[in-house]
Amino acid sequence: SIVFLNGVYVRAEDARISPFDRGFTFGEGVYEVCIAVNGKFVDAPAHLARLDRSLAACGIAPPPEKADLDSIMKELLGKNDVTTGLVYLQVTSGVSPRNFTIRPERRSTLLMLAQASDFEQASAFREGIHVQLQEDIRWLHRDIKTTMLMPQVMAKRDALANDVSDTLFYDEQGITEGASSNVFLVDAYGTLVTRSLSNRLLAGCTRERILDLARGAGFSIEERPIQRAELATAAECFVTSATYLVAPVLTIDGVSIANGQIGPITRTLQCLYCNYMNN
Ligand code: PLP
Repeated sequence: SIVFLNGVYVRAEDARISPFDRGFTFGEGVYEVCIAVNGKFVDAPAHLARLDRSLAACGIAPPPEKADLDSIMKELLGKNDVTTGLVYLQVTSGVSPRNFTIRPERRSTLLMLAQASDFEQASAFREGIHVQLQEDIRWLHRDIKTTMLMPQVMAKRDALANDVSDTLFYDEQGITEGASSNVFLVDAYGTLVTRSLSNRLLAGCTRERILDLARGAGFSIEERPIQRAELATAAECFVTSATYLVAPVLTIDGVSIANGQIGPITRTLQCLYCNYMNN
C-alpha cells in the first residue's frame, strides 16, 4: 500500500519514521479516522476540525500540509485504489532527543494511510454487537483524540476474551462511551438519550451527525449521562463511530436489551445515516 508521510507518497515498506519520533517515545500524537463511501468522504470537515482541536489541546504544531489535508486524503484513496474504506491520519509532535520537555526542531510528523473496508456490510452494522461494561480508567481528557490507546486496546482484548465484541465504559455519573464509539439509548418512551459532551468523552463526528438526523426526523433527544440501571429498561441501545456507523447493541454483560433484537428506531437511524453517507 501507499502511505503519505511528511510530504511524500511512499510505499508502506519504504516509509521511515525516526526512533526518536515523540509519537513513538512518548505517545505524543493525535489522530483521526475518516471513512469514504464510493469515493466520497463522510463528514471530513468535522474530522479535520477535531484534528485541529486535538493538536491545539496538546500543543502540537499543525503539520505544514494542514491546508491540503482534504486533497491529500482524496489522492491517497486513489493511489490505493480504495473507493470505500477509511483514511487514518496521525500527527505527532515530531523528532527530538529523548527528553520530556524539549521542543522538536523539525516539523510535526504527519502519517496518512488508506484501507479498503465496507462498513455497511460489517456484521456489527447488520447484525448488532454484544458488549460488556467496564469502569472507565482512562485519563480525564477523553475529548482529545490522542494515540494513547492502551486502555482501549486492553478493554477490546478483554471483550474478545469474554466472547463479546466490545466494551462500554462507565464512570460515577453513568456510561461515558464505548472504547471507540459513543453510546445511545432509546428509553421506554422512545426518547433518544446520549451523554452530553464534556472532557469525559470524545465528541464523535458520527454522534453529532446522528443527533442532527434524529432532530430532523422529529425524535425527542436528551443529552445526559445514561445510568447503568437504565439499561435494564431500555427499549434500544446502539453505538456510533466513523467505522461502526450505527451498530445495534443486543446484549450488555449477557443481559438482552429489550428482546435482544435490533429495534425500530435504531433501524430508522441506520437508514437515515446510510442515506446521508450515500448521497
Ligand atoms: N469515542 C471514542 C473513544 C472513539 O475512539 C471514537 C472513534 O474512534 C468515538 C467515540 C466515535 O467518534 P467518531 O464518530 O468521530 O468516529
